[in-house]
Amino acid sequence: MELSRRDFLKLSGVTFGGVLLSSLSAGPAFAQGGPFKLHKPVGETPTICCFCAVGCGAIVAAQDGKVRNIEGDPDHPVNRGSLCSKGMALAQINTVNGEINRHRLQKVRYRAPGSSVWEEKSWDWALEEIAKRVKATRDRYFIARDSEGRTVNRLEAIASLGGAALDNEECSLISKAMRALGLVYIEHQARI
Ligand code: SF4
Repeated sequence: MELSRRDFLKLSGVTFGGVLLSSLSAGPAFAQGGPFKLHKPVGETPTICCFCAVGCGAIVAAQDGKVRNIEGDPDHPVNRGSLCSKGMALAQINTVNGEINRHRLQKVRYRAPGSSVWEEKSWDWALEEIAKRVKATRDRYFIARDSEGRTVNRLEAIASLGGAALDNEECSLISKAMRALGLVYIEHQARI
């Protein structure tokens, strides 16, 4: 069949229009699948990752009272089954392969000011030492009024930097505690 230039343009237009209409009527290109149920031979409980305000959904699989696995919840509208590296490691807060995680730090290492030697200390020692130093610093540097006599009640000699492994509740409590002390330098690094 011979096509004139005009016939070719007409035919192309009709074909393009047909493709366009069918793609429009097909709905969004990112149409989602239906719920995807997990069926493990152990108990599954939906939960929310505790680590940051994204609030990803996760499914905890437990057996005999021990966490066996935690993975992203494919039905959760926020993360649709995916988890970041912190979320993927959620189970390690408690267990590794069903056993209590022995890799969690049991002691702290301390290097005194001016020293080149690290010493092993207990958590109790570290917490008491931190409390003592915070109090001494606050007593010494607390600013009740500024140079014009206005009440400011602030402490500029201590800063607070939150870490990626803190969960939402810890962050909330830490920011309240720091503000109660008068800190104004409060920062947080939410994700890795
Ligand atoms: S830490 Fe990661 S997995 Fe957890 S809520 Fe935040 S983004 Fe989601």
